[in-house]
Amino acid sequence: MPGPIVIVGAGQAGVRAALALRDAGFDGPVTLLGAEPVPPYERPPLSKGLLTGERDPENCTIASTEALAERRVAFHPATTAVAIDRDRRLVRSSDGGGHSFARLLLATGRRPRRLDLPPDLAPLAHELRHLEDARAFSR
Ligand SMILES: Cc1cc2nc3c(=O)[nH]c(=O)nc-3n(C[C@H](O)[C@H](O)[C@H](O)COP(=O)(O)OP(=O)(O)OC[C@H]3O[C@@H](n4cnc5c(N)ncnc54)[C@H](O)[C@@H]3O)c2cc1C
Repeated sequence: MPGPIVIVGAGQAGVRAALALRDAGFDGPVTLLGAEPVPPYERPPLSKGLLTGERDPENCTIASTEALAERRVAFHPATTAVAIDRDRRLVRSSDGGGHSFARLLLATGRRPRRLDLPPDLAPLAHELRHLEDARAFSR
């Protein structure tokens, strides 16, 4: 059996890579670590359909936990990779776990760049990056 692949980051890139591995016939273990507590979802609707109410968070999901399990992708939500031991080929995660890899894919995306706003405006600026941010906008 081919060696395990660990993917850090369960955004578009991470989950599509996991599914593409299965589509391409990769039969070894695939682990997907996602910092967020929800299944992988599309971000574009966060600033569009979710804000207008035309879409629900549920239909922004790229792959449900069940669908990932069916494809034998070991998905760990709310689990952040905190260290990579390159010599031992091991990713350590925030839940205390260790994930051995033959191949490691880092798909951690980017963070929003904070604007350098005057102090009176800064509290009015909100980030729109995660599902929770979009929910906060709609409240
Ligand atoms: C509001 C908004 C609207 C957008 N609209 C469009 C659009 O209309 N058209 C378009 O083409 N693109 C759009 N984009 C951009 C598009 O969503 C991104 O290009 C895409 O999400 C990038 O995917 P990614 O997987 O590389 O990164 P991300 O989606 O950022 O996913 C990375 C994931 O990795 C997780 N992560 C980070 N560090 C760790 C760690 N140490 N351990 C575990 N997990 C970790 C993060 O929490 C995140 O879930 C939009 C983005 C946003 C935020």
